[in-house]
Amino acid sequence: MKKIYLDHNATTPVLPEVFEAMRPYFMEEFGNASSIHGYGRVARVVIEESRQKIAAILQCAPDEIVFTSGGTESDNLAIKGGAWAKKDSGKHIITSAIEHHAVLESCRYLKKTGFEVTYLKPDRLGRIASETLKQAIRSDTILISIMHANNETGVIQDIPSMSKIALESGIAFHTDAVQSTGKIPYSIPELGIEMLSISAHKFYGPKGVGLLYIKKKTKIMPLNHGGSHENNKRAGTENVPGIVGLAKALEVAQRDLLDETNRLAKIKSIFVDGVKKRIRDIEIIGDQQNCIPNTVCISFKGIEGESIVLSLDLKGIAVSSGSACSSGSVNASHVILAMGIPPEQAHGIIRFSFGRTNSESDIVYILDVLEQEIARIRSISPLYGKA
Ligand code: PLP
Repeated sequence: MKKIYLDHNATTPVLPEVFEAMRPYFMEEFGNASSIHGYGRVARVVIEESRQKIAAILQCAPDEIVFTSGGTESDNLAIKGGAWAKKDSGKHIITSAIEHHAVLESCRYLKKTGFEVTYLKPDRLGRIASETLKQAIRSDTILISIMHANNETGVIQDIPSMSKIALESGIAFHTDAVQSTGKIPYSIPELGIEMLSISAHKFYGPKGVGLLYIKKKTKIMPLNHGGSHENNKRAGTENVPGIVGLAKALEVAQRDLLDETNRLAKIKSIFVDGVKKRIRDIEIIGDQQNCIPNTVCISFKGIEGESIVLSLDLKGIAVSSGSACSSGSVNASHVILAMGIPPEQAHGIIRFSFGRTNSESDIVYILDVLEQEIARIRSISPLYGKA
């Protein structure tokens, strides 16, 4: 059976050149970067070289990069560490209702310990208006966290204009760039933020490694206590092969960005045109003018997302439903509901996220299977044709 992976926003395979770059640091050069002997020095050198390469791509200083275990830890460090460091100046945090759970749950935890959180609502297309942010700022606001690109809809927020508002009010701004990194061009100066989260496994690097960019002079309280690693901001022996893989994956993503963006935009557009022509009662969710090129989120009227996911899986096609990709439960996605999409429609949403494993020639097979399966599920669905 043909196997097609359309879930690149969940994770991606490690590229061979990334794997090759990491390989020596598992068994030959296995030193602990804190050791002062030769083994340790090799590890230290390669970590600092990786940091420099990453800093050059993101356009920041190497010592503004803190390596972490991935997007979740980076978001936790930015939000909890950022809030705790400033708790004497205020207790108010602003985020959005469509953030990843790593951000939402960090905020929920802070709320239990006495902080107040305002959740900005997006419009029907998944965009957060800068004006809503302006209105939510209070004299005791200490931190703002708004994601760069959404993991479910792919919608890109106008971070430069929001960070400008934050800067004018002297408030630290964090953005979760886990889904935009390697998919669209950006630089740290252009975004104008104080903190930014990245995760390697979303752009063909290894799982379990990421980084948090922390602008110089931004106050942060570490979450891990232990050694003085990562400039006293993240205790724990560094994941040397992971860090090398992260740097290599970012380098490759940057090298291929333009070609890959164009290629994926074309694949997505052929797919979306085909879906519109061949399947009735669908809606493309989210602002397509401001969307990462690999992602499309579609609602299919009268069916449950999970049943499409499972029936496509039986045909070798891996996709995810809005609900599954956020929580593993069958609740409708908080992102889609926050956009004002009714629950019955929110339940019938599928995210297709294309990537390097896909080619234009996959589209014919995907469309054939999708058309067939949607028709089959609708024919037995008590929900379809009743509205
Ligand atoms: N933030 C966003 C927007 C994500 O999509 C994800 C992963 O799905 C994360 C954070 C968490 O990243 P990680 O899997 O590296 O913990």
